[in-house]
Amino acid sequence: MKETKALSLFSGGLDSILATRLVMSQGIEVVAIQFVTPFFNYHVLDDIPGHKEKIRSKFGIDVEVVDISKGYLELLRNPAHGFGKNFNPCIDCKIYMLSRAKEMMDELGAKFLITGEVLGQRPMSQRRDTLNVIERDSGSRSILLRPLSAKLMVETEAEREGWVDRDKLLNFSGRGRSNQIRLAKEYGITDFPAPAGGCTLADPILSRRVSQLYSEDSVLQPAEITTTDVRLLFIGRQFVFPGGGWMILGRDERDNDQLEALAGAEDALLWMEERPGPAALLRRAATWYDDPADREEDLQLAASLVVRYGKKIAGTRPPGEVTCTLQGNSRIIIADPLPDEVFRSWIL
Ligand code: SF4
Repeated sequence: MKETKALSLFSGGLDSILATRLVMSQGIEVVAIQFVTPFFNYHVLDDIPGHKEKIRSKFGIDVEVVDISKGYLELLRNPAHGFGKNFNPCIDCKIYMLSRAKEMMDELGAKFLITGEVLGQRPMSQRRDTLNVIERDSGSRSILLRPLSAKLMVETEAEREGWVDRDKLLNFSGRGRSNQIRLAKEYGITDFPAPAGGCTLADPILSRRVSQLYSEDSVLQPAEITTTDVRLLFIGRQFVFPGGGWMILGRDERDNDQLEALAGAEDALLWMEERPGPAALLRRAATWYDDPADREEDLQLAASLVVRYGKKIAGTRPPGEVTCTLQGNSRIIIADPLPDEVFRSWIL
């Protein structure tokens, strides 16, 4: 058989694993593409070789990792098909990923695309009419094969041309998982992720933070939002000060370390040397403020919150010395703990 190559959209979930393996089982070489953004799979970027090795040894699949954060942040500004229950633009998300995958086909020598979508599995993005819209708007109508539900769908080029045998494809539909679990067993796959986990845009609490970042009264213009902004958004406690300054406060040592690691040249970092407590990051402190007096005011508030959430001493919270670094300069701010009733409404 002439060698055929396909490109699979690989989320890491069971359906995408099975769809990929099903096509591989027909002797087709499949490159699995795992897209990452700060909303899903971002941790993969910490150790790409280790991740690839893990996927190969657990599922027998060769995966390539592609960071699509920049385009994805733009997509969130105004997705043509709107949002789901939370801040999840599922239809546009799929269209975008398929469009990006389609762009890679030539370079990789792939003849068709694969997804693990199952007809009727999700209320919004896997209805038949929605699947059609996704195909149409991503320009992938005849080249997109959904092996798990292919027998319930119109033939694609891969079937018509005989690259894959339609008879060996499947007719899964609906929300049940028993068919998938059975197929996983056949492939000897036992250790796979739970369904529907992992996308913060579909998480009711975390997605609210993202939607506020993209809202009209956000501290940032949509075009200014960066991957680091989104990563900071998922850390610790978030505050927007009355003047609009944005501050993140660590809840524990891990948060504090992350804030330190993510702090950019224009951010202020604050913490107490003298007793345990949180680190705070005042985002874009060097550039966001037109008036230095406003910046000073927010740095003072940030310091007061560091003291407020710092460890008590003999049952009380005395004023503290807070170290503040900004653009290579370090100084001490003396601050009283801020009373809760003052800052409650600033919590994001
Ligand atoms: S849940 Fe998240 S990753 Fe999945 S389609 Fe929706 S927006 Fe995209």
